[in-house]
Amino acid sequence: MNRFLQVVDVSDAVGTAIRIAPGPVPEEIPADQAPGRVLCADVIAGEDIPGFDRSIVDGFAVRANDTAGAGDAAPALLRNTGRVSMGDPESPLSVTNGTCVYVPTGGVLPAGADAVVMTEQTDTAGDMVLVKRPVAHGENVLMHDEDYRRGAVILPAGRRISPQDAGVLAASGRTMVTVAKKPVIGIISTGNELVPVSATPGPGQVRDANAPMIAAWLQEFGCIPRLYGIVRDERSSFEQALAKALPECDAILLSGGSSKDDRDMTAGIIAGSGEVLVHGITIAPGKPTIIGRIKNIPVFGLPGHPASAYVVLLVVVRPLVARMLGKTETPLVTTRATLGTNIPSQKGREEYVRVRLENGIAHPVFGKSGLLNTLVLSNGLIRIPAGCEGLEQGSTVDVILW
Ligand code: AMP
Ligand code: MG
Repeated sequence: MNRFLQVVDVSDAVGTAIRIAPGPVPEEIPADQAPGRVLCADVIAGEDIPGFDRSIVDGFAVRANDTAGAGDAAPALLRNTGRVSMGDPESPLSVTNGTCVYVPTGGVLPAGADAVVMTEQTDTAGDMVLVKRPVAHGENVLMHDEDYRRGAVILPAGRRISPQDAGVLAASGRTMVTVAKKPVIGIISTGNELVPVSATPGPGQVRDANAPMIAAWLQEFGCIPRLYGIVRDERSSFEQALAKALPECDAILLSGGSSKDDRDMTAGIIAGSGEVLVHGITIAPGKPTIIGRIKNIPVFGLPGHPASAYVVLLVVVRPLVARMLGKTETPLVTTRATLGTNIPSQKGREEYVRVRLENGIAHPVFGKSGLLNTLVLSNGLIRIPAGCEGLEQGSTVDVILW
């Protein structure tokens, strides 16, 4: 049996993942359910927003020319002819040379006015207003189409709708939006040694940590995880689980059994009913990763070690599901830090080192392969490119936050 993996670079693996990803499937949903979902079509302004010229301060609507040269010593004198009431579009008030109208924040700018003087920059004496600062044309005014002009793109396709976006959608009158259907991603854990979370492991057994971890990550990313339980390292139970999952899922993630040990059947089983496109990536941790597909359904084999599986999720699975969601690929969130210790790295593989961030210093969290505690003790990863032999203490690094 050939025990050597035909490893490919991370960029090739990611390219393959994106290439085999099915595109997003649009569905219309109520806008109030849209946050967290990914837009499948641009949201276009159906009208000018805010739709009327309005004041952005409490003050006096004026003609800017009337305030030219105004100062504390020589204020401009304007006669106050009224008060704009909020939400009243029919206001008959207008401003002519030598007059002004009081307007609260958000009030309609009266006809004839082209600027607003803040109340703080005025004094009043009877119905006269003393303006102590000049204002420029348009000052303190939001024009009717200044936020969005009719026909403008308010939110672009591919954007994940944020809580702020929900406010903008409401302001623009959208009650329905077209988003990508949430892809259903099947998760199958493999390994004779695995037992469910609720079980007490016997000698040599471990609880299935990967399925809940992968499911949680998928859910947070905007997918629907579907769990198919634990299968033994036996062809028949493996094939049964896969046959059940294939018609129900848009992609399938298998965890464990992705290497080339005699018990590792993932690649053989994918090849039996589909094709294996990648078996082995020059990434550490996470080398024994499989990318395959069966009848146009992407089927990935993730390494069994939870920390390795998590790195592969972020680096390889993330671009796959981003594409399935039609999500504009947003880079992983990073922060700058100073490296606290030298990190040696083997040339020829892209390494992801777990680090703990403290006061801007990134401390590597070294640990034996398979330790769970490094996932909790670290709060990010440093990527060391394949061509690099390590990073020196004191150098500036980008930490991928997780
Ligand atoms: P494998 O990738 O199947 O060779 O497994 C590598 C290591 O990861 C072994 O120590 C497994 O027991 C462990 N492992 C595999 N699957 C899981 C899982 N779902 N949860 C926790 N550990 C696992
Ligand atoms: Mg195994």
